[in-house]
Amino acid sequence: MAKNILITGAAGFLGSHLSDRFIKEGFNVIGMDNFITGDHKNIEHLQDHPQFKFIEHDVTEHITIEGDLHYILHFASPASPIDYLKIPIQTLKVGSLGTHNLLGLAKAKKARLLIASTSEVYGDPLVHPQTEDYYGNVNTIGPRGVYDEAKRFQESITMAYHRFHGLETRIVRIFNTYGPRMRLNDGRVIPAFMGQALRGEDLTVFGDGSQTRSFCYVDDQVEGIYRLLFSDYAYPVNIGNPHEISISDFAEEIIKLTNTDQKVIYKDLPVDDPMQRQPDISLAKKLLGWEPKIDRKEGMAITFDYFKNLSEEELYKSEH
Ligand code: NAD
Ligand code: UDP
Repeated sequence: MAKNILITGAAGFLGSHLSDRFIKEGFNVIGMDNFITGDHKNIEHLQDHPQFKFIEHDVTEHITIEGDLHYILHFASPASPIDYLKIPIQTLKVGSLGTHNLLGLAKAKKARLLIASTSEVYGDPLVHPQTEDYYGNVNTIGPRGVYDEAKRFQESITMAYHRFHGLETRIVRIFNTYGPRMRLNDGRVIPAFMGQALRGEDLTVFGDGSQTRSFCYVDDQVEGIYRLLFSDYAYPVNIGNPHEISISDFAEEIIKLTNTDQKVIYKDLPVDDPMQRQPDISLAKKLLGWEPKIDRKEGMAITFDYFKNLSEEELYKSEH
């Protein structure tokens, strides 16, 4: 019998790729989303699929699912700094109340729950690269605190249900992941730079561009999450690509990739923007036999193809 899996945030970037993967593996997928940062377009291709069912619902409200449920992936949450600055209360609620609802559902259905945590739990890290045993350096009252603290609470309540109720839980700490279906205007650096290059605008580097990130292609991320779900490890696991680059060097890379002659302009660094970020993935390697396979050159070329094929209307649509 095919197993049933609920994926929250299914109309978003990662949720839609996870839906594709689990369908391919033979699962019946129930996608849930309230479209606050997601897009119908990301799941259009699944609408008539016999293994896919969609429920439009805000996970901060009580959740009812008919019948058996074996697995839950909780991926609903705004994920881009400008999204969670714009909708801070919803961000706090989906990480806290939403997670509580999903834990309750998992307990009632005896389902295994995997939650999407983030490298942001490490804040502006004082340990580099970041290992899972680092407790982090988060400004609780800063503008990014709404996301970071919601995710930290999410991890705590998940571990509490695991310890107190014996619930089967998994925690993935996701580092910057990219690929097709990211929202062009979500403000994250890859769609931002690609949109600017395609519109013939200068690339906006925040601060002096010396801050670093390490970008993971979506298929690698999905593979890591898939393996973690079926492992027997309840503690957090970093999944990301350790190949680190400064944002100014990355801007130059995008200019080369897009074959444009855009310039780089410098803007203020957002408050609490982490200065360096690189996952230590030793644990994922040991535990899951996982490591990323797609390098930035290949992943960025696929992603650029996706953005290049968006309509003029989408390219010039402004949200902010
Ligand atoms: P996304 O914005 O593309 O997707 C999030 C989805 O969640 C959207 O479709 C949105 O409409 C939905 N959602 C938000 N609040 C909801 C609610 N209350 N009820 C129902 N649906 C709701 O973002 P993404 O990049 O796909 O991120 C997915 C998850 O992965 C998030 O939990 C995010 O924190 C985590 N994550 C992502 C990254 C990354 O680099 N992409 C890094 C770290 C963590
Ligand atoms: N950034 C930038 N220009 C942009 C958007 C982002 O220089 O137009 C920087 C941002 O300040 C951060 C890095 O790129 O240092 C990654 O930002 P993103 O929002 O993608 O993710 P974060 O890792 O900060 O959550």
